Amino acid sequence: MFTLRDTVSSLAPARAEDLGKTLYERFREEPDTLIVPVLDADDRPIGLVERNAFFLRMAAEYGRALYALRPISVLMDSDPLVVEADVELAAFTSDSLSYRPSDLLRGFIVTDGGRYLGVGTVLGLLQAANETNRRGVEALAAAKADQERAHTFMTAVVEAIPSMVFVKRADDHSYVLLNRAGEKILGHARGDMIGRTDVDFYPAEQAAIYRERDAEVISSGEVRVIEEDHVPRKDGSIALLRTKKIAIPGPDGAAEYLLGVSEDIAERKRAEAQIARLAHYDPLTDLPNRLLFQKDLSAALSRAARREELVAVHCIDLDRFKTVNDTLGHPIGDALLRTAAERLRACVREGDTVARLGGDEFAVVQCGLTDLSGATRLAGRIVEALAQTFDLQGHQVMIGGSVGVAVSPNDGADTDELLKKADMALYRAKADGRGTFHFFERKMDDELQARRALELDLRLALVEGQFELYYQPLYSLGVDKVMGCEALLRWNHPTRGMVSPGDFIPLAEEIGLINPLGEWVLREACREAAGWPDHVRLAVNLSPAQFRDKHLVATVVSALAASGLPAERLELEITESVLLHNTAGNMSILHDLKALGVRISMDDFGTGYSSLSYLRSFPFDKIKIDQTFVRDILDDADALAIIKAVLDLGASLGITTTAEGVETVEQLDELRRQGCGEIQGYFISRPKPAAEIAAMLGVTVLSGDKAPVITFSQPSDTFSHGEKEGPAPKAWEDEGVLSPTASRQGTQ
Ligand SMILES: [Mg+2]
Repeated sequence: MFTLRDTVSSLAPARAEDLGKTLYERFREEPDTLIVPVLDADDRPIGLVERNAFFLRMAAEYGRALYALRPISVLMDSDPLVVEADVELAAFTSDSLSYRPSDLLRGFIVTDGGRYLGVGTVLGLLQAANETNRRGVEALAAAKADQERAHTFMTAVVEAIPSMVFVKRADDHSYVLLNRAGEKILGHARGDMIGRTDVDFYPAEQAAIYRERDAEVISSGEVRVIEEDHVPRKDGSIALLRTKKIAIPGPDGAAEYLLGVSEDIAERKRAEAQIARLAHYDPLTDLPNRLLFQKDLSAALSRAARREELVAVHCIDLDRFKTVNDTLGHPIGDALLRTAAERLRACVREGDTVARLGGDEFAVVQCGLTDLSGATRLAGRIVEALAQTFDLQGHQVMIGGSVGVAVSPNDGADTDELLKKADMALYRAKADGRGTFHFFERKMDDELQARRALELDLRLALVEGQFELYYQPLYSLGVDKVMGCEALLRWNHPTRGMVSPGDFIPLAEEIGLINPLGEWVLREACREAAGWPDHVRLAVNLSPAQFRDKHLVATVVSALAASGLPAERLELEITESVLLHNTAGNMSILHDLKALGVRISMDDFGTGYSSLSYLRSFPFDKIKIDQTFVRDILDDADALAIIKAVLDLGASLGITTTAEGVETVEQLDELRRQGCGEIQGYFISRPKPAAEIAAMLGVTVLSGDKAPVITFSQPSDTFSHGEKEGPAPKAWEDEGVLSPTASRQGTQ
């Protein structure tokens, strides 16, 4: 905005006391000076001298004579137009033109805070006015360019928005804008839509819905969101959109336009559905997971309660899945799970749920039962389906499955209880030899309680020293002498009495007690064996679970060192399962043990997955043939053939072969005939407490043609430590295995 400051010209003022002749000279020298302001001593304007008026006064000799020596104050117009510099130009012009037009034309004084600043003239005013106009035009042009830029920018933004943006007129609902995303979503070109309404694109019913919604937004002025807007596209397919509509008011405040923004949510919906699916389904088998299983079971229980029906829960476990996974690899294991899932699905009726609860654990919810027969049939079908051979990428695999069944309402009314009880039944089915099914029975609950009590007792047993080692002789047929003893763990519980290792060893493995227990056995047995004659070796069993302890080798070293037992007198007995699981790691531990000088025996050979190839995978020092073969050696040609094969293999590999479980002299004779090197069993001796075995060591058995005879070597020949000498023969006879002259069957 212009003020008078912008138009002012500086001009030297006159002083009130200046003489007329001074001003006369000045006007003559400055022909362009039309006015001269007159100031007082404080620079405040007190008057103004105008050129024409001044010369009129001074025109004649008389005038000059009269005024030449008089002060200007008598010649000036003492009422000039004086205006402050901050006054706006336009306001000043219009004011002055209305009441002092002649002063305006003549010229005026401009002050700044009352003091003289300069003079203003019409010419100055005109120039300023012109400048104002010029600036106004420029500003207008700039504003227009700004506006265009803003418009282009807004258009670009709207075009670039990935959501559909559309604008309709509020009065007739015709389209005025549709962005590129909108064209893409709907399939209509904007040229076809703009100027037209929904009736032209959508079925009448649909168009009416849109019109009603639009009218509501326009009248309410509130934002309306349509969460799932199913909009027909040009090609007839349906777009799934989330649409937000808002009214845009015109200058009068009433709605002028309706703005809509629609987001294509089909992809998001698919992703959400996928996430929901992942949360409820197992991606490997596409079966419901535990979460959905529990929901389905819960729903089935509610339905069944209303209809007074039964619901069966089948818990299914693949019997040898881990073996397949470990030996053939995870891809085959995965293929097995997928095939098992398909078979389970094929077993059930529609409406029943098959779920994968995790690992190789599956479960079925069976609904609509009126009695137990349907559940029995399904459990049988499942066992049968899983017993069939699996063809997995060329591998023929047989694994089998076990099933535990609990039925509501008898066995429980809620999901957790039913699952728990079906699980207990499964546990029983597996204990019964797998490949079978079992229904829950109340006594299983009692058994579980009993097992918990046993667990508590077991934890206490080690602390309280309730364990004891028994030793069973290993008798060499080559030299007819006891050449070693196997340490066997016994648990003598104060109230339970003797607890069988078969009952507590698996439990100790399960609850992580096997490592401290195994270490105790090693130390105790080594300490005991160190006192035996030098030719008598000590055999100690290692559980596969002990191989998970990374200190196993160090423990063996420490036990040998503490006892003074030479490493070559220690034999560690392992079962095939050690080679089955974590082969590389376990193999490395075995080699480390062997490097100590310790001997390694393959125990219970012929059970489990017996493969002769195991015998070649590691340089074993001994093979112990499982007692089941020895038991049948006289009656079963197959058992004899297997024993022969193992003996042959042992001989060719230079490995000692021991037959376990020899109970009769006939068995012994047969084994001797077949070239067996060593035997163990009740025929020689039951496992005995340390003191008895120590007393007994040094016994020799000599087999005659008909009747074998036991003879005893002199204790002094075989015992290196005098204090271990004792009444061995007596203890030997106590077992009643064999008298020196008569053959007799050992008792189990
Ligand atoms: Mg053994």
